[in-house]
Amino acid sequence: MNISLKGEVILVTGASRGIGAEIAKTLGSSGATLLGTATSDEGAVRITETLKTMNIAGQGYRLDVSEADECANTLADIEESYGPITVLINNAGITRDNLLMRMKEDEWDDIMNTNLKSVYRLSKLVCRNMMKARSGRIINLTSVVGFLGNAGQSNYAAAKAGIVGFSKSLARELGGRNINVNCVAPGFIDTEMTQSLAEEQKKTLINQVPLGRLGEVSDIANTVLFLSSDLSKYITGSTIHVNGGMLME
Ligand code: NAP
Repeated sequence: MNISLKGEVILVTGASRGIGAEIAKTLGSSGATLLGTATSDEGAVRITETLKTMNIAGQGYRLDVSEADECANTLADIEESYGPITVLINNAGITRDNLLMRMKEDEWDDIMNTNLKSVYRLSKLVCRNMMKARSGRIINLTSVVGFLGNAGQSNYAAAKAGIVGFSKSLARELGGRNINVNCVAPGFIDTEMTQSLAEEQKKTLINQVPLGRLGEVSDIANTVLFLSSDLSKYITGSTIHVNGGMLME
C-alpha cells in the first residue's frame, strides 16, 4: 500500500544521521515537505543536498534542541518559509552513560535537556498552530530502555520514560483538537549510537532479542510513517514497540 503524506509539513529533529535521517527520507519520499535538523551548518547543508537529490521538498536547518531560543527562532524561520508544521517528529537524542555512583550532574542535566526538555519545548511551539488547524501529529522517539531500564543509563532511561508520560498527558490535552501524540520505542537499532558499544556488550544485547539481530533504521522509519499517516488516526497516547521481541507489550 502506498501511504501519501502530500500536503504535510514535517519537522524531524536529528535528521543528519541514524534513525532521524531514515525517517526524513521515508516521510519525504511519501510526498511530505520535509524539514530536518542537524547540530552543525555542514550537517544542515548535507540534509538539504540529500533531500534535493531525492526530489523531496524542504531543507535542512541547524538546531541545538537543548537551546530554547534556537528552538523558537528555527520554528519561526520554518513557518515563515513553509507554513505551520503539521507533523513533529522529536527524534534528536544523545547518551551520556555512567553508573549512578559516578554520574556527574552535567551528565544527568545534558540528557534531561537534550532528550526530554526539547520534547516539551518543540511540542509547545508547534501545538498552537495545530490546535488552530484542529489537526496534527506529534511523534516522540523513546526507547526500550525507558521500559526495561539499563545499568549505566539511569539518566537516559529516566528521560525516555519521561517522554512516555509527557506524551500520554499531551494526548489527553490535545485529543479534542484532533491532534494525535504517540511514541515509538526502538529496541537496539544499528546506528552510531549502538556502534559505539563494545562487541561483548553487543553480543549480550543480541542474546536478549528473540529475532536474534539488531533492528534496521527502516524498521523505525516505517513505524513513524504509519503514525504520521491517516492509517493510524484512532491511535493516540500509545507507544509502538519495535524491538525484535526484546520487550513484548
Ligand atoms: P544517532 O545516530 O546518534 O543520531 C543522533 C541525531 O540527533 C543526530 O542527527 C544528531 O545531530 C542529533 N542531535 C544530537 N544532539 C542534538 C542536539 N542537542 N540538538 C539537536 N539534534 C541533536 O542516534 P540514533 O541512534 O539515530 O537515535 C535517534 C533517536 O532514537 C534518539 O532519540 C535515540 O535515543 C532513540 N533510540 C535509538 C536507539 C538505537 O538503538 N539507535 C534505540 C532506542 C532509541 P548531529 O549529527 O548534528 O550530531
